Amino acid sequence: MPEYLRPHRLEEALGALQHPFTVLAGGTDFYPTRVGRSIDEDVLDISAIAGLRGIAATAAGWRLGATTTWAELIAADLPPLFDGLKQAAREVGGRQIQNAGTIAGNLCNASPAADGVPPLLALDAAVELASRTGSRTLPLSAFITGNRRTSLMPGELVVAIHVPQPAHDARSAFLKLGARRYLVISIVMTAATLEIAGGRIVSARVAVGACSAVAQRLPALEAALAGAALDASLGGRVEADHLAPLRPIDDVRGSADYRSDAALTVLRRLLQGFAP
Ligand SMILES: Cc1cc2nc3c(=O)[nH]c(=O)nc-3n(C[C@H](O)[C@H](O)[C@H](O)COP(=O)(O)OP(=O)(O)OC[C@H]3O[C@@H](n4cnc5c(N)ncnc54)[C@H](O)[C@@H]3O)c2cc1C
Repeated sequence: MPEYLRPHRLEEALGALQHPFTVLAGGTDFYPTRVGRSIDEDVLDISAIAGLRGIAATAAGWRLGATTTWAELIAADLPPLFDGLKQAAREVGGRQIQNAGTIAGNLCNASPAADGVPPLLALDAAVELASRTGSRTLPLSAFITGNRRTSLMPGELVVAIHVPQPAHDARSAFLKLGARRYLVISIVMTAATLEIAGGRIVSARVAVGACSAVAQRLPALEAALAGAALDASLGGRVEADHLAPLRPIDDVRGSADYRSDAALTVLRRLLQGFAP
């Protein structure tokens, strides 16, 4: 008989992970991959560990507990820096999924179409991992290593996501294209964080998802945006060459060519949306 554990303390969970348990948080990625068969693996349910939940300001920025749900994030009192992540949260499935699905679950599942990844890349987020022997923190870009692949080692849990405080006033936004308006897997999703002073962009972080195995930052576009005025011409700064890091594929949702075209258009609209 498989074992099911639901500890209340992180230490208990990390102790249990000496044995190869499958981690379960909100279950919204876990259960759909097991439809029609009984669960034959040992399961470690981390949803009762209070210390893994909730959002707190820290000296360096913000700590998002691993099992914070999308609904909790939407309801949280956060500065405009988080607008893009909140917009993404509202696009993760419907209300039921947002009530159960967690931020870390989205990252650990490492789908190329995970809506949480581009906005967290644009927030320069880092992922805190813990095991019985200690903890380590990785940039999100180093945590997700491929399609459904992460840097998680046996015995490790994601315990939090950290978002640094920007040096200037900052705003962020998220824009997703799917085959219909709601409840849809992304064809392209884009996210940007702009740090602003005196009506100009001091620095920009822009990321695109669903156009490569792992969502990508666009350094050439970020450089082109630095120093630009925050006005309606912003979208016009996006050029096809800026999309060089993307490797879109053909699949049931769209061809690679369509994705490249769509990424350009969605990015332009995303940036135009920052104009006052
Ligand atoms: C109907 C439906 C619609 C959806 N729509 C969207 C959508 O629009 N956009 C989108 O991005 N996603 C969508 N999803 C996917 C899913 O809801 C999200 O990815 C969600 O954030 C996953 O979180 P979870 O807590 O449910 O993860 P779980 O299913 O509990 O876990 C997912 C994976 O992560 C691992 N894991 C979870 N937490 C940790 C942790 N702290 N440490 C280590 N490993 C961990 C688990 O072992 C598992 O492999 C949808 C799912 C469904 C069923």
